[in-house]
Amino acid sequence: MKDSSKHPCFNKSSAGSCGRVHLPVAPKCNIQCNYCNRKYDCVNESRPGVSSGVLKPFQASTYMEKVLEAEPRITVAGIAGPGDPFANPAEVLETMRLLEKDHPELIFCLSSNGMNILPYLDDLKDLGVSHVTITISAVDPEIGAKIYSWVKDGNVVYRGIKGAELLLERQLAAIKGLKERGITVKVNSIVIPGINDEHVVEVAKVVSELGADIQNLIPLKPTEDTPFHSFEEPDHKMINRLRKEASEYIEQMTHCRRCRADAVGLLSNDKSGCLSGTLQACSKLTPLNLEAGRPFVAVASREGMLINQHLGEAKSFYIWGQSADGYRLIEERPAPTSGCGPKRWDELAAVLKDCRAVLCAAVGETPRLALEESGIACHAISGFIETALEAVYTGGNIEALSGRRGGIAGGCCTGTGLNCG
Ligand code: SF4
Ligand code: SF4
Repeated sequence: MKDSSKHPCFNKSSAGSCGRVHLPVAPKCNIQCNYCNRKYDCVNESRPGVSSGVLKPFQASTYMEKVLEAEPRITVAGIAGPGDPFANPAEVLETMRLLEKDHPELIFCLSSNGMNILPYLDDLKDLGVSHVTITISAVDPEIGAKIYSWVKDGNVVYRGIKGAELLLERQLAAIKGLKERGITVKVNSIVIPGINDEHVVEVAKVVSELGADIQNLIPLKPTEDTPFHSFEEPDHKMINRLRKEASEYIEQMTHCRRCRADAVGLLSNDKSGCLSGTLQACSKLTPLNLEAGRPFVAVASREGMLINQHLGEAKSFYIWGQSADGYRLIEERPAPTSGCGPKRWDELAAVLKDCRAVLCAAVGETPRLALEESGIACHAISGFIETALEAVYTGGNIEALSGRRGGIAGGCCTGTGLNCG
């Protein structure tokens, strides 16, 4: 049973005895805030600084073990970027699944811009995520249009008021949906003088009506090479006044440290410096089966781009491997001549003996078992080959590709801007 009182950000009295770790597993972002330069950590909740590294889900799981050895007072595992968790949903959900399996006692916490969280609300509930932060800096699209340069929904980019309207609609629905599932919601609002400083109290009012639990007013940190780089940073006097006014509507967080996406330790005793070597070492780990001599993945495809052929129909398989900058086609390899019975599948397993997985549109139970007994994972999925390869090689949630179209689609940004914690 998780003890929510041990979340140091939501419960100030535990900040001296309970710590948090941010697992940087979400590199992409699906919006562009005018205060964010992706060379730096996300300013929604982070102090500027070069991002220290990105982990794959299986690497995050190993890193978590090492963090708990070094700092057993960690009670919260959060995902705080470097981009937005729901621009990287497969990686994020898989990380949460691994954590829930190994450390169900930890409090799970996510921080998002809210743009693409709605399809995953039930997953979050099922995975035991108890705390979510949504960054909402405006509840008026005219003001939002000054804060966000664009938002991306699938493959469509929206700018100006249209983009701000869509983002706001999703953010407000997210608060409602999270509260319906019993999840504690914090709303971060970046205070940007001259843009929304006289508006954040209205944000407090609107989000509290939807049931949000606490608001965190964060002063803008002007960042180089952004439209807001020359803005003045709000002073304590302004922030204290706004907090006082906003507290009429919703409890205010006053002890936020604006942690990095790879923060670890107590809020008052951050150990990310000491553990950065551990994080970097974990980011270089490879899946165990790489060493098992199975570097490739076989794909049943009609044209070599999509996974769209039944295993039994394939007369040949596209054999893919990893390269320095992604994945590359190694060869097209003939399948054994079709025949009957289990012998055919044993022959196929022999032909694919250097493959760790086979990807196909559909597969019967007999061939699946035959391949799996030979150490070849068999995934019946659809979509682009390279998307699925990413999930296979990074330990992502490949099963998401069987039920949800575009299940691991991400946003458009592949930079290192950090989202929150
Ligand atoms: Fe905004 Fe964070 Fe995305 Fe940067 S990484 S654009 S601050 S949500
Ligand atoms: Fe807590 Fe603020 Fe740090 Fe997030 S950024 S972990 S809310 S102190």
